[in-house]
Amino acid sequence: MALRQRTRRLDPGNDIALSAGRAPRNWPRRSLQYKLAVATAVGGLGTVVLAALVIAGSYGDFAAARQNLYDISAYRDVLDTANALSAERGPANSVLGEPPSPHSAARARLQAFRARSDAALARMAAPPPAPLGLHSHQLPPLMIERVRERLARARTEIDELAARPPQQRDMEEIRHAIESMFEAVDALQPAIAWQVRELSVCDDGLAAPALTGKMLGDLREYAGRMASQIMAPVAARQPMPVQSLVDATRSRGRLLELWQLAGPAYNMFGAAPALEQAYADAGHQFFGRGVAMVDSLVAQGRISGNYSMTPTELTNRYVPTLEPLERLRSVFLDEVVAHFTATRERALRRLAAACGTSALILAILGYMLVFARRAVFLPLLRARVEVIALAEDRGHPHDDAMSVSAAQAARIGQAAEMRRLFDAIDILRRKLRERAALTAQLEQQARTDSLTGLLNRRALELVAAQYGAHETASLVLIDVDRFKQINDRHGHAAGDQVLRNIAAQMRGLVPSESVLARFGGEEFALWLPHGRPGDAAALAETLRAAIASRPVYLSGTTQLGVTASFGVAVGHGGADHWQRLFSAADAAMYRAKAEGRNCVREAQDLEGMPAR
Ligand code: GH3
Ligand code: MG
Ligand code: MG
Repeated sequence: MALRQRTRRLDPGNDIALSAGRAPRNWPRRSLQYKLAVATAVGGLGTVVLAALVIAGSYGDFAAARQNLYDISAYRDVLDTANALSAERGPANSVLGEPPSPHSAARARLQAFRARSDAALARMAAPPPAPLGLHSHQLPPLMIERVRERLARARTEIDELAARPPQQRDMEEIRHAIESMFEAVDALQPAIAWQVRELSVCDDGLAAPALTGKMLGDLREYAGRMASQIMAPVAARQPMPVQSLVDATRSRGRLLELWQLAGPAYNMFGAAPALEQAYADAGHQFFGRGVAMVDSLVAQGRISGNYSMTPTELTNRYVPTLEPLERLRSVFLDEVVAHFTATRERALRRLAAACGTSALILAILGYMLVFARRAVFLPLLRARVEVIALAEDRGHPHDDAMSVSAAQAARIGQAAEMRRLFDAIDILRRKLRERAALTAQLEQQARTDSLTGLLNRRALELVAAQYGAHETASLVLIDVDRFKQINDRHGHAAGDQVLRNIAAQMRGLVPSESVLARFGGEEFALWLPHGRPGDAAALAETLRAAIASRPVYLSGTTQLGVTASFGVAVGHGGADHWQRLFSAADAAMYRAKAEGRNCVREAQDLEGMPAR
């Protein structure tokens, strides 16, 4: 019997297959899954772009710092070369001041200094290839060629003079030879200027240290020059010519100027003890003792050619006073290199931090997305499917694809909040099942007569209503004869017993497709789903005879004969025809009563039905 009410589907065709915890592949464009996927992609991409920008910035800083360090180191090589050329002059002066002796100490020292200059020049001309990712500022070869040429010329001049006995060395020739050495150093100046310009173009932060380094180098150069400029008359033991006086005075002025300029800039990257010491020593030793030494020789040369020192003595006493100048330059350049090394290392640390942080953020983001999807999003969608299934009265959505125990096992790894949600859904499902069972029970009770177990009148009327108006059917009404008397004589309980007996008896005789009901009081009704009057009347007759032939036994001893009257009508199904069919059967039943009871009567003229 189709009494169950149909439920409306809440969400047609949009169920999501979550049985295995996996999302379906074809997500509708507006689905939450689709939006989550798009948001994830956009968020991930944005983070990657952000990370790339930060890393690119840090890498740029690192690459610039690395290039700066490389450039400043290369520049330092050029300054060191200039210094080597300057330093070569000291032993050259000594050699010019002594008799020709190829194996003297001064000669050996000169050879060693020359070898140092040559090595420095060779390194400048062919520097090692720049490391990967860096570019070198290769000096124009012509510049180096000019230096080599000047140096070779100066050395030849010096060697030629040194080969002669001292009395055959003309002072003017000596001065000229020494000046050739100046020219060699001067020839290197364009290379230094070229490097300074290259560095400044590359990074203007390099200009100040490069220029200061050059000035400190010049300080050492002019300090050396000043002595060399008076060396010729000292070596020739002749009064100081005007040219030497002018040159030495000019160098002295230049030195003071450089000291004023470069001195204060030496600690541009912060005070360092070694630098402080070199600065103090230079002030004390060179500008104190060294300059005084030259001043006294100049004073002596103005009067006569009697000098208090030989060239070698001058060299041996003067050169140590240059040492703090040389140290100041060298320590300053060390500091510059250390500064750029620290900058590069700081940039590298920042780059590593940027990479690490970006990777961490991406990993956390990825983890959060996966976690949010697994622990929140998919469980919520599954809960949605389960709740919809409950609302649609479809039981458990995983009944087909996934057993309930598997679904429960899947919950074990879930967050407590989600487990509570699914537990609540389970409780809801159980309560709904209990309610459904109770409702079914109540419905059953509403349709059943409790005394006889047959359907009641309301249920029979519903059955009749379910038939179509075009379908024919028969109705038999049965009324127990003189039932009131049974009640009166034997008691109400005996009456009930009679009713139960008759019901059981008839139930055993009616065909399975028919519907038997207790219609009220001591009346019964039989619905036959066909409209054959003869068949219905014959069945009624069988029932009547059966009732009349079997007495009811009351409390073991009393026998009670019972009869019933039958009214048969044939008509159509459906609620509209019910009343007419019922009235006809009722009228026939009353005729049976009137015509002596315990008999069957058929309705006579039911409209539209074949006459019997
Ligand atoms: P008739 O042959 O004309 O049908 O006589 P009757 O006595 O059967 O007719 P009436 O309608 O006067 O009596 C029906 C009686 O059935 C009245 C009522 O007390 C009794 N009755 C109705 N329902 C029940 C029931 O459930 N149990 C019992 N024991 N008696 C009932
Ligand atoms: Mg009656
Ligand atoms: Mg009766």
